[in-house]
Order: sequence, then structure tokens, then C-alpha cells
Amino acid sequence: MNYLNSYLEILEDSSIPCPLCQIELDVRIDKNKKPYMVCDECQAQFFIRGEKGIERLCEFVDRPW
Ligand SMILES: [Zn+2]
Repeated sequence: MNYLNSYLEILEDSSIPCPLCQIELDVRIDKNKKPYMVCDECQAQFFIRGEKGIERLCEFVDRPW
């Protein structure tokens, strides 16, 4: 799956705001190479799974906010 390699480059060192706290969350990559975020403030955890979700996350972090 070549989309995996290209999204890892985009998501490395990227961040998105927590929808609840508006605090910037670092995008982390789990051992299965799937992106996720954890908010220290509200303890919410966001796991992005399907290919479509990962594509949209890449588009989202590329966008200024
Ligand atoms: Zn939060």
C-alpha cells in the first residue's frame, strides 16, 4: 500500500487541534503505522483508521488553521 508511505511523510511532525479543547495535538503513529492523537487536557483519544480517514487527516494537517 503506497499511500501508507506518503502519508507518514506528511503526518510526521504535524498536529491538529483537539475538537473539544482547541489545543494543538501532535499526530503520533502507532506500531501498526496508523495515526492517532491523544489530548492531555481532556484525555480524549482519536484513532484514524480507514484509508479515507487517513487521506482526510493528511489534507487537514496540510491546511492552515
Ligand atoms: Zn481535548
